[in-house]
Amino acid sequence: MLLTLSTTYTPATDLGYLLHKNPAKVQTFDLGFGQAHVFYPRADEHGCIATLLLDIDAVGLVRRENSMGLEQYVNDRPYASSSFLSVAIAQVYGSALSGKCKDRPELAATAIPLEATVVGLPAQGGEKLLRDLFEPLGYAIEVERYSLDEAFPTWGESRYYTLTLRHTIRLSELLVHLYVLIPVLDNDKHYFVAEDEVEKLLRRGEGWLANHPAKLLITQRYLKNQRSLMQSALSRLVAEDTPDADDAVAKKDQEESVVEEKIDLHSQRLGAVIAALKASGARRVVDLGCGEGKLLTRMLREPQFGDILGMDVSHRSLQIAAERLRLEQLSTPKREQIQLIQGSLMYLDPRLQGYDAAAIVEVIEHLDPPRLSAFERAIFGYACPTHVVLTTPNREYNVKWESLPAGQFRHKDHRFEWTRAEFQAWAESICARFGYNVRYLPVGTEDALVGAPSQMAIFTCTGDAA
Ligand code: SAH
Repeated sequence: MLLTLSTTYTPATDLGYLLHKNPAKVQTFDLGFGQAHVFYPRADEHGCIATLLLDIDAVGLVRRENSMGLEQYVNDRPYASSSFLSVAIAQVYGSALSGKCKDRPELAATAIPLEATVVGLPAQGGEKLLRDLFEPLGYAIEVERYSLDEAFPTWGESRYYTLTLRHTIRLSELLVHLYVLIPVLDNDKHYFVAEDEVEKLLRRGEGWLANHPAKLLITQRYLKNQRSLMQSALSRLVAEDTPDADDAVAKKDQEESVVEEKIDLHSQRLGAVIAALKASGARRVVDLGCGEGKLLTRMLREPQFGDILGMDVSHRSLQIAAERLRLEQLSTPKREQIQLIQGSLMYLDPRLQGYDAAAIVEVIEHLDPPRLSAFERAIFGYACPTHVVLTTPNREYNVKWESLPAGQFRHKDHRFEWTRAEFQAWAESICARFGYNVRYLPVGTEDALVGAPSQMAIFTCTGDAA
């Protein structure tokens, strides 16, 4: 397998300093699983190409029992760019990966035009996955897919690609992205995955992973779907995203309930949501952004809902929900009926697929408008519950609340509040794009002029997405 790095920065030979590898020499490094050779096909002032060629000792790997659990001699490891390549990057280009450069420290801290080519990259998820992983990081990418056998075109395409990335970026960042994302693409047996991988992932992911739209998938695959490791990594990544989100949410929820207290709107809202869920005939239900579990408590009382999932981004809210539901004290059948998980509505999450109905109660107004499209894709495009019961405030009604200064939202964390027309326009666009139909219900006592304080949309999947 081959990793080629090149730059057009002048003098281009500075790449040699950044990599700590002399362009004039061919160097060989013994790694536990084979050898890495570093050499420069080109090294002059205007162009410099550094190549890392990894020669896996497949037979040695099998002989060295349990070294990676390979059961056979015939496999793709010797030629596929897998986690072995990540290990080689860390061992051979270790200083460059950490952003250290004795001779050119300022250059290591500077974004320079770089190109990286990885040959033989197995991408389970195809070109789309390659784009989903690298484009959000700012790379222009080029992919070339190999056919299974050029002599037999009818056999079709293989899952291997040559990937070329171009970006003006620090070399250390580029190497970090490759180090983390190559094993993610491979998703096969990993050479490494131990407890300290969470630490490594978080350290290497600093500054980019928490905000990556495919954060969940990256974490899952990097940690080989080991649930406990994944949860630990995800909770910490989320914490990086929103430093004091938990405290802020708890405090602000209180503020919101004070404004709405007089009419006990929330209780009416939850009652309306339960009624809509029951009417849909749903058995498997999920409460997305379940907060402190008020709706879950009501769901648990309904025999119709045999399988209940609560999901929230806030660990603290989930703890409060677990206490409110008295999870510890529930009888075994009841306990098996409900599950709480931490997760984000922004990410594609397979745990959310296959539900008859999802409730999303007073959540979307907490999402930044530019990120709404990620939410839409994750829920309506990927999780695809058959029914979605969604509520959000009706901004028109705010004039009726004396305690609420004009022009302010009901809750400091609300990023927007929609009028009825705005909500309906959004809901119609969801239906058009994702194959749902929708009807609307007012929640709370309706005013002739400004409508009801809260608005509900009930979406039902039609199965013909655009
Ligand atoms: N549905 C609950 C809580 C509403 S408050 C109720 O009606 O009582 C909004 C909730 O959305 C909070 O618990 C907050 O943690 C959660 N939330 C905000 N952004 C989220 C995201 N991206 N993913 C999942 N939950 C989120």
